[in-house]
Parts: sequence; C-alpha cells; structure tokens
Amino acid sequence: MEKLLQLPTGPIPYTLKVSANRRTIGLRIDERGLTVHIPKCAAWSNVEKLLHEKSAWILSKLALRERAPAPMEWTDGAPLLHLGQDIRLCLHQDARNRMFEFDGATLYISQPNPNDTAAVQRKVTQWYRKQALADFTRRIELLAAKLGVTPTALFLSSAKTRWGSCNSKGEIRLHWRLIQAPPHIIHYVVAHELAHLKEMNHSPKFWAWVEKLCPNYSTARQELKVLSAQLHLV
Ligand SMILES: [Zn+2]
Repeated sequence: MEKLLQLPTGPIPYTLKVSANRRTIGLRIDERGLTVHIPKCAAWSNVEKLLHEKSAWILSKLALRERAPAPMEWTDGAPLLHLGQDIRLCLHQDARNRMFEFDGATLYISQPNPNDTAAVQRKVTQWYRKQALADFTRRIELLAAKLGVTPTALFLSSAKTRWGSCNSKGEIRLHWRLIQAPPHIIHYVVAHELAHLKEMNHSPKFWAWVEKLCPNYSTARQELKVLSAQLHLV
C-alpha cells in the first residue's frame, strides 16, 4: 500500500507492508525508497509515532540513496559510457537486421522487439565485449613491448571484485566493463597486470614497473575506485 509520511520538510512517499508473522515494525530503504513493514496487529498511532521518531534517519538515508547512481534503463535514448565518453543508445525495430552500429556518439541497435529490455541489455553487453577485446588487445601489445614481457593470452572477465588479474602462465584477464572507463584508467589496469609478469606481488619493485608504464598510476587507481559503482551499472 502506498502512503505518505507528512514531515515538516515535506511529504515522503513510502510503501506499507503488513505481515501476519511479524512482531516488530521494520524500516527499509533501498533503490525503491522507503518500505515500512508492520505486524498485522500494530496500532496505527504507534507506526506513525515511530516514523516521526526515525524521520532524521529516514531523511539522511534517502539523501544518501539519491547520490548513488540511478539504475540503468535499457530504453531508447539511454545514456551509456564508452572510453569515458557519454554516448546514447538508439533502438530500432527490425526483425531481420540484428546488427549494431556505432558512430562515435550513438550506438544503434536493431531488435525485433526494442521493448525487450533483457535482449537489449544482452546486445549492448555483446557490443561492449567486442570493443573491449579490440581495445585491450591493442593496449597489451603496446605496453608489453615497452616492458619486455610476453603475455600468452587475453581473456575478458566479468569478475565481481577485480578489474584485472594475471597468472603464472602469462594469461591476462580484464573485465569487459572497463571499456566504459576513460583510456588512462584502462591503461593503468593493463600496466598493472603486465607488471605482474615481472613481479607476481604488490611489492615496491612491482609498483616501480607499473610507474614505468603509467607515471600517474596512483591517480588512475583512485579514479577507478570512485568510478567502480558506475561501471557496474551496465
Ligand atoms: Zn595486482
């Protein structure tokens, strides 16, 4: 049930959920906003009293949530990131042509049903992966030559917690979502993984190799941390 909480700062919409097997009132704030769970037998005056008591907490949580990036919407005109640039998604209805086209500012995607958001998401992901493979391959070739190392293979990853990894076989894994980041950040991650072919640790010697390829690596490293949540939206 949708309700409004009247506060001196203005009304706050929330969802009220009544459950038979609850004993206490519970408040929850997530991407959908405030949800209030109450026991079936709760007295309404108690619910209102609690909401007013918790109003400072509710307002601060809602304010925090607003600063978090909005979830991705897979619709025509949706903004996307490519190499740190804002690009637009343009959807076309076409039963036969399922290709994508990119002109540097807009990614055109044809789908039999452009309202099928799961299919659109799959298609955009496919495009990103293709771009990522081409871009990362080129960067690895360039930087590996500078460092005098020879990686044996490149794989795209979709690991949850790391942007890149490297093993003793010389295989490098880079997250496809990195293709959304500005070039200097991709450069840093590639430099980092290649430097592991020299040093399989994070010792000062390792960072010296990274610095050789990427003099301002510490800034790039910080920027990537800040950008992480946004890169994971897609
Ligand atoms: Zn590392």
